[in-house]
Amino acid sequence: MQIETSNSSIQLAESSGIVQAKHVIRLPNLSDETRSLLTEAETDPKLTSKINFTDHGGTVLTNVQVQLIFWGREWDSNPPPSPTVSEVTKAIATILSSSYMSELSQYRSISSGSLLESKVVTTSEPPKSFKNNDVAHLIQGLIDTGIVVSPLTNNQILYFAIMPINAKADKSFVGEHTFFKYKNKKNSQSANVHFAWVTNNGQLDFITTVFSHELVESCTDPEGTAFLGTAGTCSQSGWCEIADVCTNTGKVNNVTVQSYWSQRSSTCVIPSTDAPS
Ligand SMILES: [Zn+2]
Repeated sequence: MQIETSNSSIQLAESSGIVQAKHVIRLPNLSDETRSLLTEAETDPKLTSKINFTDHGGTVLTNVQVQLIFWGREWDSNPPPSPTVSEVTKAIATILSSSYMSELSQYRSISSGSLLESKVVTTSEPPKSFKNNDVAHLIQGLIDTGIVVSPLTNNQILYFAIMPINAKADKSFVGEHTFFKYKNKKNSQSANVHFAWVTNNGQLDFITTVFSHELVESCTDPEGTAFLGTAGTCSQSGWCEIADVCTNTGKVNNVTVQSYWSQRSSTCVIPSTDAPS
């Protein structure tokens, strides 16, 4: 799994919010040199000694509640796509209720998450080549119309869009998490919306791997202000987060997930009773 970060600022077209920063993951085209470094980092003490995460004190999600949003008519088509909405929802619910998140307790006592809701949105379509802002606008609209719970009443929500197969990110990223400021037009109350998205290549293992990566990073660093690697921890610029220094995948309760960094164990972990694959 290839990973890349970026910190470019993005203005939302509407005045109600600004996407301030982002963190992305992308699959292909790691150089062999980088790939071998990432692989070795999980086993070589000389390299793992350079990996160090510290708490910058910003927002974390200690009891995350995931709002799944399956975007586009493809999800509601007949015959249904593979994987189906129910297959993806079930796998993600399994991740959230499994031991997978248990090592996050070392990061300011973050506890395991739960699935808030799973919604299919067929009233709009993602652009074939979508941007971060397209997802932000979708979520803002769903909040404004009361289709999903507002961040003003629940500050533990992670809005997570699952894209249809026919939508690709405008860059080569396969997943991303970031946030924007939501403002209620009636009462002017505001709250940050923490959100993520994952692209879809038709493979459930792919979706759950990228989901797990963005999930643990959204909990420990939803705004780029909490648990971040010190200089030299990540080779790339931008937010350096706990799934960026790990590449292994494994299974929790038969669902494929990606490993993440355990600072107290100085290694990449997949808390599970299952054997790594
Ligand atoms: Zn990442």
